[in-house]
Amino acid sequence: MKSDFLIIGSGIAGLSFALKASRLGTVSVITKKEEVDTATNLAQGGIAAVLDFEDSFESHIKDTIDAGAGLCDEDVVQMVVKNGPVRISELMELGVKFVKEKDGKLSLGKEGGHSKRRVAHAYDLTGREIERALVESVEKISNIALFENHMCVDLITESDLDKKEKNEQQKCVGAYVIDECGDVTQFFAKIVVLCTGGTGKVYLYTSNPDIATGDGVAVAHRAGAEINNMEFVQFHPTCLYHHNAKNFLISEAVRGEGAILINKDNQRFMEKYEPEQLELATRDKVARAIDTEMKRSGVDCVYLDISHKGKEFLQKRFPTIYEKCLSLGIDISERPIPVVPAAHYLCGGVTTDIHGRTTVGNLFALGETSCTGLHGGNRLASNSLLEAIVYAENVYRYCEKNWRTLGKEQKHKEYDYKKTDKEQIDEEILINHNWDVIRRVMWNYVGIVRKESRLILAKQRIAEVRKEINEILKKYKITPNMLELRNISLVASLIIDASLARKESKGLHYIIDYPAIDDSQ
Ligand SMILES: Cc1cc2nc3c(=O)[nH]c(=O)nc-3n(C[C@H](O)[C@H](O)[C@H](O)COP(=O)(O)OP(=O)(O)OC[C@H]3O[C@@H](n4cnc5c(N)ncnc54)[C@H](O)[C@@H]3O)c2cc1C
Repeated sequence: MKSDFLIIGSGIAGLSFALKASRLGTVSVITKKEEVDTATNLAQGGIAAVLDFEDSFESHIKDTIDAGAGLCDEDVVQMVVKNGPVRISELMELGVKFVKEKDGKLSLGKEGGHSKRRVAHAYDLTGREIERALVESVEKISNIALFENHMCVDLITESDLDKKEKNEQQKCVGAYVIDECGDVTQFFAKIVVLCTGGTGKVYLYTSNPDIATGDGVAVAHRAGAEINNMEFVQFHPTCLYHHNAKNFLISEAVRGEGAILINKDNQRFMEKYEPEQLELATRDKVARAIDTEMKRSGVDCVYLDISHKGKEFLQKRFPTIYEKCLSLGIDISERPIPVVPAAHYLCGGVTTDIHGRTTVGNLFALGETSCTGLHGGNRLASNSLLEAIVYAENVYRYCEKNWRTLGKEQKHKEYDYKKTDKEQIDEEILINHNWDVIRRVMWNYVGIVRKESRLILAKQRIAEVRKEINEILKKYKITPNMLELRNISLVASLIIDASLARKESKGLHYIIDYPAIDDSQ
């Protein structure tokens, strides 16, 4: 396969960029499951930007920087915030229907860490609405080819073709891709853009969809790209706790509308931990408070109570949450929702500059897989969809400006991957057992509250598992399940190493050996 652009992933980052890139050349989008199997499709709360005259760029910038614990790149924050409104208008031009008030203005939600109402939403189905509009727009464009059930195995770099020294500046020329029949082909492109989303599946409990196995970080790392800020994993404080619910989030916007957190004794507990901001403190603080409360009393969950808002309001404002809970026997207009924290968002990832360029030539990263400097040590709620659309424009502008050099023909060298004499794995348990080990080790040893001795144990355990996975990969024909396992094991070790390297509690990285001196720093 050959095209001008190869985009890996079909969430907000991949599809927004595909629409723009198609103005410059041919585009192949590969996505490892179905087109809409993305975190984007699950986003509930909405997308933050300055959209009301009572709000200001200064205020959004300040809230973002305050959340980021002093680790945000302030130039990046300014650029993203200032470009927010125009990119949101662009989404509306594509057909995204955000909810409006009677006077025609956008209805704006309020979320933790924001000092103003600034979150544009489509009730609690914002991500689905955005994904729908993007998919429909992409389908209308003839020079975008979309390949479902095609998973990137690894990137192809010039050194793979020429056997150049790996330490020379690498240039990416495409990707090895496995399809649903298990055949591996090469997709060559002048520009490769990683839009592979998050890494939540590294942890036992997560709000993320199954695709979130950190593939972008893993393939970029193997190709020699710089990776940063992996210690900053955001745990969402409130995922639905129910044995029949897999990965279901109770949006931040529910707390924004006045929900309170109570423990098993029906006592509101946030007053003890965050007397000023209470339930609307940033996610890390609320998640830690819940974690402490659960550990203290040895219970499996706490409760989020929004019942005082009444059935009519809840059905209208949170239709999905209302229906989902009801289907599990919980009428949220009558009783509190059982909730637990879960891995939600990775602030770190593949390091990029302001144009979305990684440290590997012709390789860009966008969306959750990238580390642009916007989030620093902690992401402000609803800033991630915003980051994806702003950077899609930046990458496009860069490519447009430099197309004469970027658009040159690349080298190609074909390998026949179908010819493999490796046998098919006959015991899937070898893979599934290790999935479980990694996710449990990460949850128990590298979770919301960390400790150096536990991190060291986790490092040893993950290293053993990685050795075993490498043996399996050498022996058997590769499958997507095996490749994802390899990727989560690599991402796990990157998170552990980064956590061990940071000898302080900062932002989302909370380590009891180094207590925070001043929480506001
Ligand atoms: C439940 C939930 C609610 C959220 N709510 C909000 C919110 O209200 N506001 C907000 O700003 N953010 C929210 N977030 C975060 C936000 O949704 C994500 O950060 C954002 O959607 C990421 O977009 P993306 O395009 O980078 O990745 P995704 O939308 O996750 O898309 C990743 C794509 O990459 C593909 N892919 C992955 N690996 C490979 C591979 N090896 N080969 C081929 N394809 C691959 C996947 O199949 C998928 O198509 C939420 C996240 C979750 C999970």
